[in-house]
Amino acid sequence: MSTHLDWLQDELQALGDAGLYNHIRTISSPQGAWLQIEGRSVLNFCSNNYLGLANHPRLVEAAKKAIDQYGVGPGAVRIISGTNDLHIELEKRIARFKAVEAALSLQSGFQANAATIPALVGKEDVIFSDRLNHASIIDGCRLSGGKILPYEHCDMASLEAVIQENLPKYRRAIIITDGVFSMDGDVAPLDKIYEVARKYDILLMVDDAHGEGVLGKGGRGIVDHFGLHGKVDVEIGTFSKAFGVVGGVVAGKATIIEWLRQRGRPFLFSSAVTPPDAAACIAAIDILEASTELVDRLWDNARYFKAEMKRLGFDMGVSTTPITPVMLGEAPLAQQFSRELFEAGVFAMATGFPIVPLGKSRIRVMISAAHEKADLDKGLEAFAKVGKKLRVI
Ligand SMILES: *Cc1c(COP(=O)(O)O)cnc(C)c1O
Repeated sequence: MSTHLDWLQDELQALGDAGLYNHIRTISSPQGAWLQIEGRSVLNFCSNNYLGLANHPRLVEAAKKAIDQYGVGPGAVRIISGTNDLHIELEKRIARFKAVEAALSLQSGFQANAATIPALVGKEDVIFSDRLNHASIIDGCRLSGGKILPYEHCDMASLEAVIQENLPKYRRAIIITDGVFSMDGDVAPLDKIYEVARKYDILLMVDDAHGEGVLGKGGRGIVDHFGLHGKVDVEIGTFSKAFGVVGGVVAGKATIIEWLRQRGRPFLFSSAVTPPDAAACIAAIDILEASTELVDRLWDNARYFKAEMKRLGFDMGVSTTPITPVMLGEAPLAQQFSRELFEAGVFAMATGFPIVPLGKSRIRVMISAAHEKADLDKGLEAFAKVGKKLRVI
């Protein structure tokens, strides 16, 4: 019997046939170098838990203390009765860590983009957007109603050409780029983008989700990496990756943050992160401010793993960060590779369209400070075995 939902069954079937159906594994342990999945202990090669903070004793302790003191819920959206002193402290601490004038805490990095872009851009405005920007940037741009004009990925000549052709037609303009591109692991040339922004007097926004805790001194992010303090108008960040918790942040010029408190819709109409989340984020900043040890270990691990993978003959694209995309091409091959790795005790998910372009499927290995050298060696052994079996190397 046919129903009004048949089209969805057909769409799902088509995803499966194309090797693009997401099979989501269920994890029954804390995040760390090893995970319990479906009754097995497997090596974790795909979390954004860059620094191993997601189950760090100091973060866990801070969250427990916050529950004892504040309970578990924020109570309301922040403008009504949901702002407590932990949110204010978190904003002060992250602003200091990133050396910006002010910061605003939001529920997630996705929400931070959804709050910021529509508050700064209207229908009469134009957005110059890197072609490979993250989905949450793209959705934020769409919500704004502004004209979205992509420029070629990290290509300054393309950016300038698009600006010159279009800038006069619009009221105001903004350039938006990812800092570290999450699927390829390359870094936006933010110093050059800044020069272009100044040349044409355009607002500049960067999404530092994969840069915080990774790039710059002690993980202070992409602005620190390029020494651009005070020059980038607004930065988006997340507490869900290197910081090991959950939540988003907007950081930058005080006027922009003040405006977002008045006009950022996810800030106005959606409740804040919970007190234990905020407390755990503050503990993560404490750890990063106290020592560069975890960030240094992350980079040591990444350099070692990538060098060995290269020696084995894998193609890791253009990555210059701990993000390690193992390029495989067609989606079914990437999915099969991932399944075989899992059989060999390594959890590394395949990524395909629409997260990456068609025909550019890959396994994105995420190296972490939580990995021991023996863990990396075990992962390398599995990649070598599966790579040979599937004739990738
Ligand atoms: C992961 C990511 C986000 C989303 O962050 P969440 O806090 O998980 O919502 C936003 N932007 C970029 C560039 C990301 O990589």
